[in-house]
Amino acid sequence: MSLSELDDEQREIRDLARRFADEEIAPHAAGWDREHRFPREVFAALGELGLMGACVPVEHGGAGADFLSYVLVLEELSRADAGVGVTVAVHTSAGTLPILAHGTPEQIDRLVPALAQGHEIAAFALTESGSGSDAGAMRTRADDEGRVTGTKQWITNGSHAHTFIVFAKDPDKPSAYLVRRGAPVSP
Ligand SMILES: Cc1cc2nc3c(=O)[nH]c(=O)nc-3n(C[C@H](O)[C@H](O)[C@H](O)COP(=O)(O)OP(=O)(O)OC[C@H]3O[C@@H](n4cnc5c(N)ncnc54)[C@H](O)[C@@H]3O)c2cc1C
Repeated sequence: MSLSELDDEQREIRDLARRFADEEIAPHAAGWDREHRFPREVFAALGELGLMGACVPVEHGGAGADFLSYVLVLEELSRADAGVGVTVAVHTSAGTLPILAHGTPEQIDRLVPALAQGHEIAAFALTESGSGSDAGAMRTRADDEGRVTGTKQWITNGSHAHTFIVFAKDPDKPSAYLVRRGAPVSP
C-alpha cells in the first residue's frame, strides 16, 4: 500500500506515533538497552496518547482506530526501539484483543479499559522450558477450581504486566486463564 492510500485518520495516528518515537524513544533506546531498563513511563505516555489501545473500541477505553492504524503505530515505535514495539504489540494483540474477543462481558469491563489506556500492561504466557508453539506439550495444569500450577518462560512484559493470559491444561485440553499479578500463590 502506498502512502497516498492511507486515509486522514491513519496518517494522523502514524504521524503522532512517529513524533513520539523520534522525540521520546529513539534518543534513549540504546541507553535503556545498556541499562537493561524497562521504560515504564513511556508506556504511560503512550497510553495518554491513546496508543496502548489504538485499535480498541472507544467504548472499552481505546482510541477506536482501525487495525491498519495500529500496525502503523507499531512500525513507528519499532523503528525507534524494537523492544518498545514488541511490548505494545504483545500488550495489544496477545493481551487486550484476546480478552475483548473471548472474555466475558464482566472480564472485558473489569480489565480492558485500564489496558487500553496504558494504566496497566498485559502479557501472554504460553511458552515453557519444554514447549513453545506445541501447546499440547505444555506441563502447566489447572484443577477444577481454577488453580494453575506450572512455570512459564520468555514471557514478554512478564516482569511488569498486571494481567496475564496464562495457558494451562485442564486437565487434557489447553485452556486460557486470566491471572492478575499478585494473585494468591500456594506455598
Ligand atoms: C523475544 C521473544 C519473546 C517471546 N515472547 C513470548 C511471550 O510473550 N509469550 C510466550 O508464551 N512465548 C514467548 N516467546 C517464546 C516464543 O513464542 C517461542 O519461542 C516460540 O513459540 C517458538 O516455540 P518453540 O521453541 O517450540 O519453537 P517452534 O519453532 O515453534 O517449534 C520448533 C519446531 O517444532 C515444530 N513443531 C511444533 N509443534 C509440533 C508438533 N506438535 N509436532 C511436530 N512438530 C512440531 C515446529 O514446526 C518447528 O519446526 C518469546 C520468544 C522470544 C525469543
